[in-house]
Amino acid sequence: MITLSKLLQHFPKPYLLVLTFLFLLMLVIGFWSSSQAPDGLESTTTNTRLTLDLSPKLPTESAQPLAPAPSEPQADNWTSVTVKSGDSLSTLFQRVGLSAQDVYRVTQATKKSQSLSTLFPGDTLDFVLDNGELQKVRHIKTPLEQIIISHQGKGHYTVETITRQPIIEARFVQGIISSSLFVDGQRAGLSQKKLMELANIFGWDIDFALDIRKQDQFALIYEEKYLDDALIGEGQILAAQFTNRGEVFNAIRHSDGNYYSPKGYSMRKAFLRSPVDFFRISSKYNLNRKHPVLKTSRPHRGVDYAAATGTPIKASGDGKVIWRGTKGGYGRTIILQHAGIYTTLYAHMSKYNSKVKKGSRVKQGQIIGYIGSSGLVTGPHLHYEFRVNGVHKNPLKVKFPNVKPLNKEQMEDFKPVANTILAQLEAYRLGTPLASN
Ligand SMILES: [Zn+2]
Repeated sequence: MITLSKLLQHFPKPYLLVLTFLFLLMLVIGFWSSSQAPDGLESTTTNTRLTLDLSPKLPTESAQPLAPAPSEPQADNWTSVTVKSGDSLSTLFQRVGLSAQDVYRVTQATKKSQSLSTLFPGDTLDFVLDNGELQKVRHIKTPLEQIIISHQGKGHYTVETITRQPIIEARFVQGIISSSLFVDGQRAGLSQKKLMELANIFGWDIDFALDIRKQDQFALIYEEKYLDDALIGEGQILAAQFTNRGEVFNAIRHSDGNYYSPKGYSMRKAFLRSPVDFFRISSKYNLNRKHPVLKTSRPHRGVDYAAATGTPIKASGDGKVIWRGTKGGYGRTIILQHAGIYTTLYAHMSKYNSKVKKGSRVKQGQIIGYIGSSGLVTGPHLHYEFRVNGVHKNPLKVKFPNVKPLNKEQMEDFKPVANTILAQLEAYRLGTPLASN
């Protein structure tokens, strides 16, 4: 300061006045621009954010982590709050010191997109605050989707949804049955969900409770979803094979989302092979047994599914209820008539589905009643019969009518896809996977 005052002494007074004026002017400008700083800052982060926001949409850059974004060097200072049950936007905003007006503005901005309308306990909301002013709110909905609401000045907010695409990879799994599809499938590394899907694909051809034998085999190719090299979920089964007592069943997923045999026949049939979910079956009956109550050998014209009392029984096909009531040794029984020539019978029920009455129409898979031990039985089970033109058929063996196959035009799309994926499946099975290209 001494040097400065010495320096100033050399200046004549008019010059000093001008200098003082200039100095004051600079101060004013400096103050004015610093008061505009938040907007200035906002515009630079907007640029960074834009490039960041766009990049995840490019599949080639999908390896870039979504959030919190470490690739943003002058990273926003996010404050996170966790949603608890009973929380609303107001309570969450309050928790980081924001006002009802902030809630109102953000609600207005998200009104159309409903982006913040579904928050679940355990979700987090992330905030960027600048001197107590709300700059951004972020809701990471899933690893693949997040929403950012940004302040654009003057209480105006914009909403953007950032989505990413996972990388889909095909996975091959195979196994040999030694106890059940459920046990051996899990041992081979299949999730419960995939096992149910697999059983549902072949459930029209194979009764997974009673048909399965040791040395039966399964093989499938299904999709896995990866994000940043981490597995984030499973996709569809693309092709599957089940070998049951030497008979090979193949199923390929078509673009319509359904599964077909290589010849284009739908895996879905007019009848379910089993009216009880296979994993609900607790034990198997010996079909050559002496009648447990009558102690005599007599023809057994159906299949027995032993399961806990109350286990749901499904209609094996679309049809009409032609009998609902007690029927001698059968106990509580329902008989369904299907498409003219077929009837199915369900016996020993503990109770009926109250909505299913004589004359009711039922859909395939609809629950018609529950397993019990009414009638002449020693333990709870479903006795199931299948008749064609009044003649008993073995429900495990009877050939079911096919649902309409793919037409010629559909086959043109389906055939090459089916051939390729089946060749791939076969190659994997033999341990010589084809090069993927
Ligand atoms: Zn029986």
